[in-house]
Amino acid sequence: MAHIPTATGRLPWRASVLTLFPEMFPGPLGVSLVGQALEVGLWSLALHQIRDFGLGRHRAVDDTPAGGGAGMVMRADVLAAAIDHARGTDADLPLLYMSPRGTPLTQARARALSTGPGVMILAGRFEGIDERLIEARGVEEVSIGDYVLSGGELAAMVLIDACVRLIPGVLGAEASLADESFEDGLLEYPQYTKPREWENRPTPEVLMSGDHKKIAAWRRAEAERLTRERRPDLLSED
Ligand code: SAM
Repeated sequence: MAHIPTATGRLPWRASVLTLFPEMFPGPLGVSLVGQALEVGLWSLALHQIRDFGLGRHRAVDDTPAGGGAGMVMRADVLAAAIDHARGTDADLPLLYMSPRGTPLTQARARALSTGPGVMILAGRFEGIDERLIEARGVEEVSIGDYVLSGGELAAMVLIDACVRLIPGVLGAEASLADESFEDGLLEYPQYTKPREWENRPTPEVLMSGDHKKIAAWRRAEAERLTRERRPDLLSED
């Protein structure tokens, strides 16, 4: 498939997802700014039904775990056939497997992925996938948090959303991105809007002062305070 440059002169950022439930997409990725960006071609979404590569009359994609135990495991041979097919058109995309065992997704990782050509994502189901597939196809495991979802599709959507909103042209004001949580290693400062006073709670005076230096200093101090209180781990990171 030829990749046609967008109005911004860039090639569209590509998301290619291997899933048993393609009907879940674009789902939340089809609305608001990310959805509009999909519509105008700032990014593209290719869906690959893993079951198309299943075995036998029932197109089986899974089997019982070696060594026994509950649940089913997705087969390496089936997944490899799906991946090799998807790579036929998107050989340059890094291959990620959404997995609670993976490296936690961070804003820095989303930013790095958003500046590349896109991502190919394997969404798992059941008890997960045969380990040999991970080794044989050079798969990077990525987690969206320390909890277990019933499938990788929602996790894939989270990752795609985090990347797409960083693509130039997707959000209106580029400046608003720089101030966001995690961008400078801090949580974001508190935000206020109109009315100036609500339920006897005034907007902090400094924000109404018009003194941009003072406002920036207040915001920085508040960001540091919130980070210290809520996420001290971020302050100790390099
Ligand atoms: N047995 C696996 C374990 O304990 O690690 C959990 C399998 S989970 C029920 C099914 C699929 O959901 C996984 O293969 C993965 O693709 C996805 N998944 C679940 N939790 C996730 C998380 N926190 N981050 C990313 N993907 C997740």
